[in-house]
Amino acid sequence: MTESYGNKETSITLNKEGSDTYTKISYPVRYGVYSEIKTRDAVLHFNLNHEIVRAVGRTRQWIHPNEWLKRTRGDDWVYYSNGGYTGVFEATGEYYLPNLQYPTNAIIGGKPFKEPAVKDLTEAWHQRLIEIRESVNGVPSQVGRFLDQACAITPETLGQRAQQLFEISGGRVTVMPPDARHVDYDIIPLTISQGCLYKCRFCRIKTDHPFALKTREEITQQILALKKLYNKDRSNYNSLFLGEHDALAAGRELIVFAAEQSLALLGLDRANLGGSNLFLFGSVDSLLDTDPGLFDQLNRLFSNTYINIGLESADQETLDKLGKPITVAKVEEAFETIQAINHRYPNIEITCNFIMDESLPKGHYPSFLRLVRENFPHAKSKGTVYLSPLTINRPSREMVFEFNRLKCLSRLPTFLYIIQRL
Ligand code: SF4
Repeated sequence: MTESYGNKETSITLNKEGSDTYTKISYPVRYGVYSEIKTRDAVLHFNLNHEIVRAVGRTRQWIHPNEWLKRTRGDDWVYYSNGGYTGVFEATGEYYLPNLQYPTNAIIGGKPFKEPAVKDLTEAWHQRLIEIRESVNGVPSQVGRFLDQACAITPETLGQRAQQLFEISGGRVTVMPPDARHVDYDIIPLTISQGCLYKCRFCRIKTDHPFALKTREEITQQILALKKLYNKDRSNYNSLFLGEHDALAAGRELIVFAAEQSLALLGLDRANLGGSNLFLFGSVDSLLDTDPGLFDQLNRLFSNTYINIGLESADQETLDKLGKPITVAKVEEAFETIQAINHRYPNIEITCNFIMDESLPKGHYPSFLRLVRENFPHAKSKGTVYLSPLTINRPSREMVFEFNRLKCLSRLPTFLYIIQRL
């Protein structure tokens, strides 16, 4: 139930109801149920476990009133910028660009974490919270309890809870599927397999772990541990990520088991957000080997299923240079399969990734355009293609120019893939 308190300096609202639908819109939208503390200087948002999840500065030093900081489940602060509204939507499919504090492959974005107002909030939010607690008198008992509980959750506690999450999943999710942007990356991670099939030379996120499946017992234990960790805030999640790098290779039975158990035990389809979403990665071989019955089942189980496949290139010289042990013939067959599945299943979208880099062989971009342009007489709205820059920490005008050229020529929705961890 909503409860509020206000004095001249501070207003506090518990259990505010944000939007129940993820939308793409040019002003900030808050999702699910959260509590808000608003002072002259800042707005702080807390989830249903009283953990801080968002912060916005209200001073003149804050970069832009519509921009905000989000704290992720992995305990990273991410700064959402509108990029001056120039080209962010065209490049990413979203109105706000996540700026990250760790090295990534983004070719657009600034350095918001160098701004004193941003630094101040990420570093001193807890001290502010304590000061707010000390400054308010005569608050309703529920509000007082909320403040006490929020103050008790220190930055160290949040770091420990992030570690617990990584331990449950058998390691941190080092890269989320690009499609997770559709739910603002608010996904619950469940590892059903580890490792991947190819161990490509170019890949920075691969593990040494040979591809291996989790048992049903291990999956159920993980779900129960996740249920406990997400606790009351579980009701703000309607999306599941099946990890790790090639969950599609786990096969129909294990995927459906994990999906059904998660829906039942985590209540993803009964959350404060409407619908339910599933995200996973696949590979060329796992896609081509998939029992088609899986798609019939997923199409019924979730409102939306997004499967992201790393194709990387349709040029053999480029695949060889990347150290990706597959043939162009297989890439083309996978691409055709993707189109057929996207056409057949209204609730499933299979997306794919291609590499972008200035140093790739000459045949890479023409072969890419053969697939994404020449195969289609008209532009299509489904079957997104993500271009993933190979370079890390090197924003580049030339690359943005090249991306825009490819995007204009592509007849499939085409966006940048910004590598983001959970
Ligand atoms: S690109 Fe995908 S398949 Fe290749 S090594 Fe990385 S995770 Fe594995």
